Amino acid sequence: MENKFIDLHCHSTLKPFSKSFSRKSTQGINTLDINFKRSIWYKTHIKLFKKVLNALITLTKFTQADFTSAIEGGAKILMVSVDPMERELILSKNKTKQRKTGKFIKNLVQGIGQKRINYLYNLDNYFEDLQKNIHFLKQLENEHKSINGKSSTYKIVDSYEDIDLQTENTIYIVLTIEGGHALRSSLYKGISTIENQAKIFDNISKLKHTGSIPTPFFVSLAHHFPNGLCGHAKSLTGIASLAYNQEENADLGLLPLGRKVIDLLLKNINEKRIYIDLKHMNLKSRKEFYDYLETPRYANEDIPIIVSHGATNYLPWPSQPDNEINFYKEEIVKIAGSGGIFGVQLDARRLRKMKYGSKRRGIRNDVDIKGLYKKAFFVWRQIEVLALLIYKAKNEQMGFERIDPWGFQVVGSDFDGIVDPLDGYWTYSEMPLLQEYLIKQANAFLRTKTAKKLPDYNQLKAISIVNKFLFDNANRFLMKYLTR
Ligand SMILES: [Zn+2]
Repeated sequence: MENKFIDLHCHSTLKPFSKSFSRKSTQGINTLDINFKRSIWYKTHIKLFKKVLNALITLTKFTQADFTSAIEGGAKILMVSVDPMERELILSKNKTKQRKTGKFIKNLVQGIGQKRINYLYNLDNYFEDLQKNIHFLKQLENEHKSINGKSSTYKIVDSYEDIDLQTENTIYIVLTIEGGHALRSSLYKGISTIENQAKIFDNISKLKHTGSIPTPFFVSLAHHFPNGLCGHAKSLTGIASLAYNQEENADLGLLPLGRKVIDLLLKNINEKRIYIDLKHMNLKSRKEFYDYLETPRYANEDIPIIVSHGATNYLPWPSQPDNEINFYKEEIVKIAGSGGIFGVQLDARRLRKMKYGSKRRGIRNDVDIKGLYKKAFFVWRQIEVLALLIYKAKNEQMGFERIDPWGFQVVGSDFDGIVDPLDGYWTYSEMPLLQEYLIKQANAFLRTKTAKKLPDYNQLKAISIVNKFLFDNANRFLMKYLTR
């Protein structure tokens, strides 16, 4: 069985780029020497129990999406998010909350280093930092590194034509951006001035026209905090949610500036289209985005709806949204219907929330010694319910004749971001293990009554469903939309 995967969302550069700030002389400088934490190839080797204890608050203290783990796990194409962390994460204005922020930041320091935190604290130009981050990644492009005796390398691309999947031990990198703040050359407060808005427009144009830097494939407008473009969903949980105020401006929809930014990103006359990723928008903004795509401006354009890393809460969309960081049933149908793609994030905080069925389908508890089967269930369940929603839509609505219910779910790990990994599936190195257990889950599903009632039941094979999720779906999507 071949192990290969594509990831729609990860933060491979976040830790090494941040760690390069530990000395002035190494700031923004990558290295092939994996003895240094500022190497994109640096992989943390630590014992499992340490992972369990440490993974819970914010950033994992070990690397997950480093390129050594990526090669080990069979990564073919990675969509790497290269944005700077929002300054609000570093700095809590609310005095009474600072004690709680303290714990969060202590954890952050272990992930990215105090010097990087200091740097972000003083940062007043996000876009400049974004460019630095891209250059950090560019430095070692096409350079070879021996990983477990195999000569390995990576290339950054913005067109599928430059991807050759036959080349072994080569990872293709596609740039993406999480959070519209990264487009700003100023801080949020000054956003409303015409001058600052003009800088945002100018930065978008730079992303599209600077030949030396590949154009990002998609941008999510929102992240954790208000940024003048749209409303964001509450995203932080546990200790972090106590430390920050995410309520401010969280009930906004798409703002006029947000619409203008969408137009500029999507514009494709004599330039490359940059797609919009809906992750982190609140439900109100997402609804307005779906409506916006139906206005005459976009109704006849082929714009797939992208969720880079998400989960469905398997609820109908409400008038008063709760748990809106996850996606509602109606949205799943819209996404698949648009020819879009849905990255399932490997984050326990999001996946466990969905209460739907038994975790132990088809297996006795004592067989699953390490809990790997049970943990794989959380991921499998997402793949399954997303498909079931499309089977249902096929019965009830027009326009779904050619939509494959198993054809739009992909991996969107969010590794090396703020993530609580599923125990056992810690890093890219464990992707083959995830594949193995997802196949077991798929087989268990195929034995259920629900599966046997599906119209194409006889054609469904566990291994092909899982390989679609890990590779084929994303590959087909990139083939169609990652164009010059
Ligand atoms: Zn992320």
